[in-house]
Amino acid sequence: MERATPETLAAANAGWGDRGKLRPLYVLDGSLVTERTVSPAGYGRFHVAVFEEWVRRDIGEIYVQMFDTALANWVGEPGAMCVHSETCGSQLALEHNGDLYSCDHFVEPRFKLGNIRELPILDLVTSDQQRRFGQDKRESLPAFCRSCDVRFACHGGCPKDRFTMTPDGEPGLHYLCPSYKLFFGHIDPVMRRMRDLLAAGRAPSLVVAETRAADARRGRNDACPCASGRKWKACHGTAA
Ligand code: SF4
Ligand code: SF4
Repeated sequence: MERATPETLAAANAGWGDRGKLRPLYVLDGSLVTERTVSPAGYGRFHVAVFEEWVRRDIGEIYVQMFDTALANWVGEPGAMCVHSETCGSQLALEHNGDLYSCDHFVEPRFKLGNIRELPILDLVTSDQQRRFGQDKRESLPAFCRSCDVRFACHGGCPKDRFTMTPDGEPGLHYLCPSYKLFFGHIDPVMRRMRDLLAAGRAPSLVVAETRAADARRGRNDACPCASGRKWKACHGTAA
């Protein structure tokens, strides 16, 4: 997210292109976002729409990091995306001058671990500061997340973007929470099915045939299962 404060929003909206004169520096401050930023629920609607294509055509053929990470969480294995892992801290950022930071999204003074010209990089990577940084991803979750049905898949997203309030006013909720709730809730039946197939030693890609069989029984005027609000024939059923 391109975070901004009331003071920096105009410059942030102008951006770095020809329109931008002030060359904004995006920092970990502010609860506003630029006009280019995806809406809180839009990211989820996009992923649901793509997922509905994937389950009909692409499982086992096309790798989508978000979907494979989700399946890993449903199966109880480590996923590929730090943002949807319980803890993090393995994506450090090394600057040209040797400064090492906790994450490439946290290159700010308070997240500097040290300089590799002065200390062995292994000491910095395994330092208490970095260990705490990774564990804070879990420890700083608001109560709203700790009691969330899809926490096991979401894990609250990246701490960088936890700048909104929970419905009961607790700070620290991820900007994309509505997207995450929508997407992880939507894919639950398919993920459970793929998990069960894996447990039985069968290919999760069998879901493609099962989904197509269900589609064949669907009426053209039925609601599309992607929950877009459109009819099947005018949405994911156009290619059926
Ligand atoms: S702070 Fe965010 S981007 Fe960095 S390692 Fe943690 S989850 Fe990943
Ligand atoms: S979906 Fe929302 S409430 Fe649930 S864990 Fe993710 S950010 Fe927290």
